[in-house]
Amino acid sequence: MTRNPTRRPKPRHPRRVVQTRRTPPAKPQRKTHVMRPAKHRTTPLALVTGGAGFIGSHLCDRLIADGFEVLCLDNFYTGSAANLQHFKHEPRFDLITHDVVEPYDARVARVYNLACPASPVHYQADPIKTYKTSILGALHALEVGRRHGARVFQASTSEVYGDPEQHPQQESYWGHVNPIGIRACYDEGKRGAETLFFDYARRHKTDIRVARIFNTYGPRMLPNDGRVVSNFIVQALADEPFTIYGDGSQTRSFCYVDDLIDGIMLLTSDAGIPGPVNLGNPSEFTMGELADKVLALTGSHSHRVFKALPSDDPTRRRPDISLAQQKLGWSPKVSLEEGLLRTIGYFRSVMSIA
Ligand code: NAD
Ligand code: UDP
Repeated sequence: MTRNPTRRPKPRHPRRVVQTRRTPPAKPQRKTHVMRPAKHRTTPLALVTGGAGFIGSHLCDRLIADGFEVLCLDNFYTGSAANLQHFKHEPRFDLITHDVVEPYDARVARVYNLACPASPVHYQADPIKTYKTSILGALHALEVGRRHGARVFQASTSEVYGDPEQHPQQESYWGHVNPIGIRACYDEGKRGAETLFFDYARRHKTDIRVARIFNTYGPRMLPNDGRVVSNFIVQALADEPFTIYGDGSQTRSFCYVDDLIDGIMLLTSDAGIPGPVNLGNPSEFTMGELADKVLALTGSHSHRVFKALPSDDPTRRRPDISLAQQKLGWSPKVSLEEGLLRTIGYFRSVMSIA
């Protein structure tokens, strides 16, 4: 575990304890960051794995705004220092560069486990690492929860439903996943992570919160992220052809990131529930319709090129959010048009700098 060179200078008064072990050496190497003892802390401490990523950095923002101290842990595989730049002078924010495949320890009140590449392009680039990240990352987050009595949140996914035969998808649906396909490293990794979460809840009484997140988009996605919303916007702004996989008739339901963060905060509040809970926007669009909207909102002259549909690409996806509505009082508020406009504004600024 090493400090990221971009972070602000080390504080004069050490703040928390973070310990890490490397596996599998017989004699584990221990490196300890001594920080301010927990008893002197007046604000709750939340650990966010994957906090330098798209959703993770927005979650860090909300936790800081809600009065938490935040410890962000990331290996920067798909995360970006730019997403955390605004915390440079924030005394309640700390950053640790660490890989969740390796154990770690921190005396925290909450763990938000988001570390895992989410774009098919990135998670398929090193599938074995993706699987390890999902399973071992969940295990190590849960161990922190068990040791310190912390509440542990898992960023699970609609991918646990695979190419669903039930539509819309309810939490009670067990899914339709190809366990040996190219998406399995992610889908089965996330399913295995859910298994660990519920076994820790049963066996160790760990306070777990599991969200099944449906396609989420917004500012801070990487321009080369590879997911459809960022691809279409970047292509539109560059007047390059839209890459439509298959005939574009497959559907997804897109949730703006601020709405998702509202849902995560409600789920992880004292009034929340273990889950799993679907968090997503139930408005469903084909990829052809999404292309039309991005074209109209950007005023781009891009045309479409059709490429082969990747194998096991789900044909349709829409969350049933009745559970989140009933138990959390949560519903998304941002329309696709409004969310796309905000995201287009972000990519315009990023692309004009680049
Ligand atoms: P992202 O790729 O932007 O963020 C993932 C973060 O995890 C990055 O900062 C990356 O560097 C970090 N990371 C990856 N592997 C790591 C490792 N081994 N150790 C430490 N850090 C590591 O993706 P995102 O869209 O922000 O997704 C965040 C979480 O939400 C993921 O767990 C993802 O599976 C889940 N999720 C996202 C969506 C979505 O539509 N965005 C949907 C369902 C679930
Ligand atoms: N997609 C597309 N063009 C792209 C990227 C993706 O048509 O440039 C399609 C992809 O095949 C899938 C949908 O858009 O059907 C959503 O893909 P994404 O990678 O965003 O998310 P996921 O497949 O994980 O839901």
